[in-house]
Amino acid sequence: MTTIRQEDFISSVAAALQYISYYHPVDFITSLTRAYEREESPAARDAIAQLLINSRMCAEGHRPICQDTGIVSAFIKVGMDARFEPAPGEERKDIQQMVDEGVRRAYLDPDNKLRASILADPAGARKNTKDNTPAVVSVELVKGAAVEVIVAAKGGGSEAKAKFIMLNPSDSIVDWVLKTVPTMGAGWCPPGMLGIGIGGTAEKAMLLAKESLMDPIDIQDLKARGAKNRAEELRLELYDKVNRLGIGAQGLGGLTTVLDVKVRDYPTHAANLPVAMIPNCAATRHAHFVLDGSGPVYLDPPNLDLWPKLSYDVSAARRVNLDTVTREQASTWKPGEVLLLTGKLLTGRDAAHQRLTAMLDRGEKLPVDFRGRFIYYVGPVDPVRDEVMGPAGPTTATRMDKYTRQMLAETGLLGMVGKSERGAAAIDAIREFSAVYLMAVGGAAYLVSKAIHGARVLAFADLGMEAIYEFDVRDMPVTVAVDSQGASVHQTGPAEWQQRIAGIPILQ
Ligand code: SF4
Repeated sequence: MTTIRQEDFISSVAAALQYISYYHPVDFITSLTRAYEREESPAARDAIAQLLINSRMCAEGHRPICQDTGIVSAFIKVGMDARFEPAPGEERKDIQQMVDEGVRRAYLDPDNKLRASILADPAGARKNTKDNTPAVVSVELVKGAAVEVIVAAKGGGSEAKAKFIMLNPSDSIVDWVLKTVPTMGAGWCPPGMLGIGIGGTAEKAMLLAKESLMDPIDIQDLKARGAKNRAEELRLELYDKVNRLGIGAQGLGGLTTVLDVKVRDYPTHAANLPVAMIPNCAATRHAHFVLDGSGPVYLDPPNLDLWPKLSYDVSAARRVNLDTVTREQASTWKPGEVLLLTGKLLTGRDAAHQRLTAMLDRGEKLPVDFRGRFIYYVGPVDPVRDEVMGPAGPTTATRMDKYTRQMLAETGLLGMVGKSERGAAAIDAIREFSAVYLMAVGGAAYLVSKAIHGARVLAFADLGMEAIYEFDVRDMPVTVAVDSQGASVHQTGPAEWQQRIAGIPILQ
């Protein structure tokens, strides 16, 4: 029988969550670097460069890779000959409580405070729990005397694109995946991974898909050695065919949409073919460790020489002064063009938009003047030490589509900055009001925060990270995603690259 001290378990979980907030897994960086080197689409290559630069900055500065520091999933295999022991006088916790205590410590760590994103009462008040608890914990009792722990922090943008279907046994899994991935848009911040769970029951398939994302990226090894079973055959086929969709980094069109496809399967009922698919994003974060009773585990820092040293070339970018820019000037910007924004940038996301549009409906005066201004869809991480603002990457703009027409029609807003594509109704409104939509790179949050030189709350302070701020930005890089005529780079980019890829015989 092995005794695992409760405190060792908790402090190991807390340390691992801090670790993954700023260190990408090495296999992810190696694979992303490879994608960067072979990418031929300039816009996608530029986006991958920003992700790699951001990753290195985070690893060096110990600050979060993404402003969305995720919901914590923990997969715990408890050996049947292991037992947990609280210190004398300490309250005994169950596994959920121990994991939650680790989450609490990690997310409230004053040296690297992480964003609390978890809301209780999800169908009602949606109230922030303030410490990112509770985690989603899966426990398995296994043979042995050790405790194996995997912790992951999953971004809401990629979790939002999780899919499940109960296929007929004769249906094609490949067809379903290829039909479904384009409907997921770019809100899951590709390039990343797809985890696919096949078989079991509905809940088993979802769990298999999520667990598969905890495996290291090894598709190139699989290609080299060849598939040994049906699951591996599917991995190879889907990796090639999904990349042939041409979606590319951030949905801009390009050679790499997925760095790997994972497949796990389990026996199922003769009448069923359950299939789950969960994407993992540019902020892939997970850590694995084993407690054997000898004390807490603190993972070694990775060798940062494995991170490429890239510089971001903005010499061709158009410089835009946000304080003086006019609708006429903005109408000359073309989809795919890179801009460097300087000046005052407003912020606001879901909750702020809900309040603003409710005020407009009631005919009330808004607390902020949006005329001729740009709004950045963001929920930043709190600053630490001498930072003006913590990591502050864009959130998914598609969620703001339902507010866009009213905001453009009734506030005089000139443009928006976010990530991922816009839907048809939002694009129509952008065209009608000669507005523009710009995108920053989802997952390059620390890099973006370095362009913020001032920040003050203008309204809705009680919303915390969802308050309306005014940022003072300098040379903030963005790409024109929807121009004032309604042309969208998320439509033209993938269509162009899908055609180009068709001429490439084997995707590496
Ligand atoms: S990379 Fe994108 S999907 Fe992932 S956590 Fe960040 S914003 Fe969310």
